[in-house]
Amino acid sequence: MGGPLRYALSTGAIALSDASQGSEFVQWRHAPPSEWQFCPLCRSDLTNQVWDGKMRRYCPACGFVYWERPVPAAAAVVLDPARQPGQMVLVRRRYPPEEGQWTLPGGGIEAGESVQEAARREVLEETGLAVAVDQQIGTWSTPSAETLITFFAAHVLGGQLEAGTDALEAAWFPIAALPDLAFNTHRDAVESFRKHISSL
Ligand SMILES: [Zn+2]
Repeated sequence: MGGPLRYALSTGAIALSDASQGSEFVQWRHAPPSEWQFCPLCRSDLTNQVWDGKMRRYCPACGFVYWERPVPAAAAVVLDPARQPGQMVLVRRRYPPEEGQWTLPGGGIEAGESVQEAARREVLEETGLAVAVDQQIGTWSTPSAETLITFFAAHVLGGQLEAGTDALEAAWFPIAALPDLAFNTHRDAVESFRKHISSL
């Protein structure tokens, strides 16, 4: 890569990082497709055109249509019944949105990865814990429907609890007395999980 800035694009956000100072994110900018100017295939100017009843970014030169879809993600309620009975793992976010707030470990699904594999990888990256994925708790859309998150229960196979680079902290909390969580989807998933275990 040539310049000092490395650009990483995920749906709706561009992260700018200064490679000369490691991989620390210094800026996030929301970039909805309505702001996209050029065709990624032929570099012509994009326009708006209705396809299947909805306005979409469209390239009149080559026919490229941007079909906007939610980003799939996975997250987990991590349990270790033998060593931490009645507790689950939370991580405190290092990066926006909601930096500094507690959430379940989780993140975006990579291409070529199953939803369960993504849950295992994200838990390992953010908490240092190797887990096995158990039952699915449910799937929720974020309020803006930009992200679609599937939540699993998971149990620890090994590793030591340690915050990964995306997290400020990782810690065990009593399931009955969690701190406020950053996202509605995570709150809904935990509530659903609590109902499930209280019905056992
Ligand atoms: Zn084009």
